[in-house]
Parts: sequence; structure tokens; C-alpha cells
Amino acid sequence: MAKISPMMERYQEVKSENPGTLLLFRMGDFYELFYNDAEIASEVLGLTLTSRDRNSPNPVAMAGFPYHQLDNYLQKLIHAGFRVAICDQVEDPKKAKGLVRREVTRVVTPGTITEDELLDPRTSNFIACVAPSGTVLGLAWLELSTGRFLISDIEPALLQDELARIHAAECIIPEDEAGSTQECVAEQDLGGPVLTSRPSWCFAHDETRRVLREHFGTNTLEGFDADEDSPAVTAAGALLEYIRETQRSALGHITRLETWRRHRFMIIDEATRRSLELTSTMRDGRREQSLLGVIDETKTPMGARLLADWLSNPLTDIEQITQRLDAVEELLRDVALRDELRTSLRQIHDLQRLTSRVATGRCSPRDLSSLAVTLGHLPCVKDRLAARSAQRLHTLEERLDLCPEVRTAIEDALIADPPAAVADGGVIRSGFHGQLDELRELAKGGKQWIAAYQATESERTGIPGLKIGFNRVFGYYLEVTGAHLSKVPEDYIRKQTLKNQERFITPQLKEYEDKVLRAEEQSKALEHELFDSLKEEVAAHVARLLSTAEALAEIDVLTGLAALAETAGYCRPELTSEPTLDIREGRHPVLDRLMPAGEFVPNDVLLGVSNSSANAELSSGRLQIITGPNMAGKSTYIRQAALITLMAQMGSFVPASDARIGIADRIFARVGASDELGRGQSTFMVEMTETARILNSATSASLVILDEIGRGTSTYDGISLAWSITEYLHDETLCRTMFATHYHELSVLTQTLQQASNWNVAVQENNDDVIFLHRIVQGAAGRSYGIHVAKLAGVPRSVTERARTILDTLENDHINQDGRPSVPQRETGRQKSRQLSLFELPEDPLLDEIRNLEVDRMTPLEAMQELHRLRKQLTDRT
Ligand code: ADP
Ligand code: MG
Repeated sequence: MAKISPMMERYQEVKSENPGTLLLFRMGDFYELFYNDAEIASEVLGLTLTSRDRNSPNPVAMAGFPYHQLDNYLQKLIHAGFRVAICDQVEDPKKAKGLVRREVTRVVTPGTITEDELLDPRTSNFIACVAPSGTVLGLAWLELSTGRFLISDIEPALLQDELARIHAAECIIPEDEAGSTQECVAEQDLGGPVLTSRPSWCFAHDETRRVLREHFGTNTLEGFDADEDSPAVTAAGALLEYIRETQRSALGHITRLETWRRHRFMIIDEATRRSLELTSTMRDGRREQSLLGVIDETKTPMGARLLADWLSNPLTDIEQITQRLDAVEELLRDVALRDELRTSLRQIHDLQRLTSRVATGRCSPRDLSSLAVTLGHLPCVKDRLAARSAQRLHTLEERLDLCPEVRTAIEDALIADPPAAVADGGVIRSGFHGQLDELRELAKGGKQWIAAYQATESERTGIPGLKIGFNRVFGYYLEVTGAHLSKVPEDYIRKQTLKNQERFITPQLKEYEDKVLRAEEQSKALEHELFDSLKEEVAAHVARLLSTAEALAEIDVLTGLAALAETAGYCRPELTSEPTLDIREGRHPVLDRLMPAGEFVPNDVLLGVSNSSANAELSSGRLQIITGPNMAGKSTYIRQAALITLMAQMGSFVPASDARIGIADRIFARVGASDELGRGQSTFMVEMTETARILNSATSASLVILDEIGRGTSTYDGISLAWSITEYLHDETLCRTMFATHYHELSVLTQTLQQASNWNVAVQENNDDVIFLHRIVQGAAGRSYGIHVAKLAGVPRSVTERARTILDTLENDHINQDGRPSVPQRETGRQKSRQLSLFELPEDPLLDEIRNLEVDRMTPLEAMQELHRLRKQLTDRT
């Protein structure tokens, strides 16, 4: 084997210490990748693939980029899902004896990013860890950029929902469980986390507890309200160990473990989140047109992240919700208060992430300066919040800690607008440190002398263009152009000859150069020291700063919700524990804001509202069946009911003129297979699996939104399933249900189901025009609709009339002699022999074809062609 160089030996060593990562190896001004890493990088980053030791029999593949482009390339690699180890030169190459020492300074993975440039300021970036233990899973999750650290024991079946709720970027799992856990987690390209497997000893009971105790400096973990033996604690320990390994820095901002209590929050599973488009849209995964996107009026990144957290975790406790609503209402009423707070908030930086960078020792002078600026706005905020009546505002005011000593320390030490890096100096304020001032004077004096020296020398030698320059190789020099070389005096020492000029030095020049450079070097070193001790001083207050940041985030969210209520014309919802939903003139929060003002048609939603209530002309049981043609507005209507409920429970005002919301313990939303675009696996199986989960887990306090369920199979299958699902929800689950369907057949269900009511979307039919009014009215949909459109499209009259006769036959057959739907009653075995006549029709296959025509989606021409085809089939038979 060919002998490898000491540097490549070191490379191999580092590489083997960091398995599963791409290794960026610093060489001079470049980061280089070798072997397989180089090939991956050339593909992902578009770098040119070259080779090292080109002349050797087996050259090594190599690719690299200049060190100052690290952030840019790092971002691409992380987004592509890679883990990257950064190996830096940890000693000054000038001072190194032999090979420069190189160490991995940090391992960056999708879940452990802390750089502002790599993070979306308005989105939390969590890393999760799963520790399986018998029938339970321990789950821990941490946001490294803010220090928030939570744990919870969950049932394995809930893992995917939980990871979706947390929106984890990366998830750690034990190696030997990798296969089985992987199955529970959504695939990466569907927004699931990057999976990182770790050896099982990282999950050992004693080791994980030791890691946690050591980090928190406690003898027990009971203080965190955590059961020491729970698997969640195992997950937390394994997670923290991983963080320590990858970060290699202080983690002082991780100050506590929070135990997550699921029952305090509305449960929303992953499919529901997706179909309600809470934080991103189904079509393109973007935030802007999601619910979060349109309700976000926050002014700070901390507020934006907390708002997303509230939206992902609506509350179930009326008392807690009321506290938030009280605060929003007060901020809505008091315009001056709201405006002043928002003016301050606009100028406040991301105190959470700034503080975390202080804790990990990675903060820049600019970070500290931003921190001081932020603290500077606090007195005003605190002042405004004093003596408010809403209790929550009062609590927040108390939690705002002005941290005046931190602010003073930074303002005293740093110049007003410091550079991003401390390396070049010019960070510390003059007058702050006597010795630093002296050194700076010295350097400055030296420079002044040198400037003056140029003038004197030019005069002495009679060389008009004599200039003094500086470079790193031989410091200060005198530069003489070719024309004047004859005038160069004897005491000049030649250093370099260039094309049109020569460079010289003199002993005097060197003497001052020494003074200048030494003073500059010393002052930079001193600035470094002073800055480091300032960082330490600030780091001592991390816990206070973080708690203040939390309070600021909440003030921002509440103020933002008030501003939203004002601009979008929302009302304060009334919350009740009764299983009811009474929304007057409700609007879909997203469409309402995206459509031109006034164009969205408001609708009432009544579920479980008794006749005796104020508006008695309408009544509705707890189950609504909404029928109507495509594009009428069914989906919009049922979604808006779910979204308004959710907004109310997160503590927001809602888009309606009046709303009485019964607390929902869970919201389920399901979209029929064919409605769910853009998901590869839009199979009927998925639809039914998800439906099964609803039937198995909804309670009488849940709100269930079903959209075109049963569409993914044949018509009869579909109707039968939809029928029996509706019956089950009505009779067994007793939950509030809204079922949008284009199966008109289902509207007869109201005749057997006491709590069910029919609703449809009003359509205005002028002679030759049909307008969707998007207004939801009580009653079943008119059924002549499709045939009406066919008529408008110019379908021959004999055909539409025949179609009407067929339709009438079909419809009449749904109802038996005593006017009930001709389906056997549920549960009464005696009647089981009576067949559902719907399924008994002497079917002509042509009828089914006609029934399935999507007439309202056809162009007149297509309709004509279809009719010709149908008629041809008929005539072919005779
Ligand atoms: P369906 O589910 O009945 O096929 P959708 O709810 O998907 O219909 O609505 C179709 C389109 O109609 C929506 O994209 C929207 O543009 C419009 N729409 C629906 N409801 C309303 C409304 N209440 N006011 C105004 N436009 C509406
Ligand atoms: Mg629809």
C-alpha cells in the first residue's frame, strides 16, 4: 500500500471518529472533502471533483470551497439532510511546529443548527429522540437555538402525530430499533424528520440519568416534575449526550426539563394538521397561505414561533383560554397601548436565540449589541403594561426582567455599532479600558509618524511620488517608480523589484513598524480578552434573559392577535363545556383574508344547538350532512367550522359576528382520497385507515370533519361505507360531526338519525345561468342540478328528459312505502333480511355511467361527445 501523508493520516483518524457525517477538512483557506464525501459534495453542491496525488497509482477524489463560503455550503448540505463535521485548524499555522493541529469543532445536523443564517427566524427547529420501552415510547425534544427541552411518554401509535406536532427536523432513534421506529415516522420528503440512529448503549438507564444530573447539576430529576424512571427521561439523556457530542460547547441555556401534559391541549393528529393546512399548505407546503400565515401579525421572530406553538397546541381549559382572550380584548380596546407596544416590539431582536448564542459562547459583538438594544426597549414595554386589568398582562409585566446590569455592562464595553467579528478589533469602546486606550494611542502615533516620514523622505530625496505601502510579507516599505530610481539614497535597503517600481525599507521605518504592529497585535489580543470576559459576564444571566424573552414572545403574540382581530374584523368567542357549536356569519379565516374584501360569503354553523336557543328558526342536531355539487363551497364550510373552533381554543378572536364554541378535546379532519392532491399514496386504504382512527378514538367531546369520505372506491361501496360511518358516529361516538358529500343519497339519513340534519349550498338558477351563492341553507340539495347543466350545455331534450325519469326512479327507490329510506335499520337483526333496494335495482350499466358523469366539470363539447357515445351504446344494443 502506498504510504499516506501525515495530513491524510490525521484526516482518516478524524473521519473514523465521526461516522455518518460529511467531513469538511480545513486546509489553508479551503475546506476540503475527500473520497466518497467529495463525490457527494460535488453532486449536492456542484463543486468540481478533482483529485489529490494525481500521479500516484490510486489518486484520492477531492472537492473543496473557500472557507468564507462555509455558511452557504453548510446550508445546502443540511437542507439536503446531511450531517456535517467541521474540522478546523485549531492553532495558528504560523506558530505550528510541523503539522497544524486539526480538531472537529462542531458537528452540524438538521436538528442542531444554531446559526441565524441557517435557521428560519420564524420557525422553531426541534430535534427529537425516541426511547422505546416495552409498550411505551419515551419522547424528548429540544430546540437548541432557544434551550427549550421537553419530555413525554406516549403510546407508539402516536409517534407520527407527535413528531408532526413538534415539527422535528431530526429524530434520534436507537440503532437496533431503527427499523421498527422508522416505520412509525413519516418519510422525509413528506415533511418527516431526518433519522439519526445511535448505538443502544447511549440509551442505557444509568448513563442517561448521569448525563442529565451532571448537566443540570442536581442529584435527582424529581425537581423537574419528571418520573426518574420513565422512558422519556431516557430519551432526554440520550438526546442531551448527542447534543454535547455535536456541539462541543457550553449549553448553559438548557436550564430545565419540561414535562409535556397532553391532556391540557386539544389533540390534533398528523392527517388533520395536514388537511386543515394549519402551518403549511397541502399543495406547495408554504407557510404564507396556511392558517398560521394569515393570522401572524407578530413583530418579533420569538412571537412568530410562539404563535405557531399556540396554533399547534390549542388549549382545552376554559379558564386558561379566557385569560388569553381577556388580554387580547384589552389590547384590542386600548389602541394607544397596542400601538406603543408594537412600536417597541418592532425594534426588539430575537432575545431567545441571542441569549442561546451567549450561553454556547458563540455570540458575536453584534449579537451582544443587539441584546443591549433589546433590553433598552424593555422599560417602555414594562411601563405600558403596568396597571392593566387583564390578569395575564399583569403576570407578563411581572415576568419582564429589565436586566439593567447586563445592559450597562454591554453598553459600557462595546462601541455603538460593532462589527460582526471580534478578530479585527475595533469592538471595545474607548475609555473603557486604560491599557487598551494606551495601545491604540501607540499604534495610532506610530502610523502618524509613518505618514509624516513619507513627506520628509520625499522632500529629502527629491522623489515626488514616493509612497509608503504595507503588505503582510515584509510590512511597511517605501515605493519608488522606475523614473526616479537614480535618486534613491544609499541608506535604502532594496526588498523587492516589480515591473515598474522597486520597494525599499529603512531601519527607522522598521523601528516604527515594530512599534505599530506590536501595539496593534497587543490591542487586538486585549480586545479579545475583554470581549470574552464580557461574554462571560452576560452568560451569568442566561436564565433571567430567557425568561424575559418568553414573556416578550407572549406579549408579542397577544398584541398580534389583537391587531389581527382589529384589521380582520373578528369577534370574541364565548367558550362553553357543552358539546355545541354556534357560529354566526362565520368566515373561512384564510379565504376571507386572501379574497378581495367583502367577497367571501359568511355562513352560520349550528351543531348541537337546541331549538330553545336565541335563533330558533334554525335548529341543528350534532350531525350535519352537507350536500351539493362540486365547487359549491362544502369543503370550505366544514373547514371553517374546524378552524374557528381551533382559533378560539388557542385564545384568538374568530372570523364571525358571534360565536359560541363548545370545547373540543380533539378535532379530526379527513379528506377523501381523490380530494387529497399531491400525496403519492392517495389510496383508498389510507382514507380508510384514517377513518378507522376516528371511529376508534373520537369522543363525545370531539369535532369530526369528514370531506367526501368513501369517494376512493366504487359508488355503491362508497355510499354504503359513508352511510354506516355516519350512523356509527351518530349512535356510538356521539361527537359533533360535519360530513360534506356529493352523494345526495345520504340526505335520507336524517329520517332515521335523530340528531342529523341536512344542509346544502344554495344555487341560483336563472334561465340560462347557474350561480353558486356559497350560502349554506338547511335542507337537502336539489337533485335536478346535473341534468339542468346538461340541458344548458345543449344536450338533446329527449336525453335529459329520459335522464330525469331515470333519476326519479332511482330517487323513489331510496324511500320505501312508509317514507323511510329503504335501508335495513341498524342493530335490529330482525330486519336484516330486508334488502336495501338501492342495491337491488335491475341495474343497467349505462345508468351507472350516467350517474357518474361529472357533468358540471365538462365543457359543452365534452358533454355532447359523451351523450353521443351513450346513445351509440344504446342503439348498438337494439
Ligand atoms: P366543494 O367542496 O363544494 O367542491 P369548495 O369548498 O372547495 O367546494 O369551494 C370551491 C371554491 O368556491 C373555493 O375555492 C372558493 O373559491 C369558493 N368558495 C367557497 N366557499 C365560499 C364562500 N363562502 N364565499 C366565497 N367563495 C367561496
Ligand atoms: Mg370539496
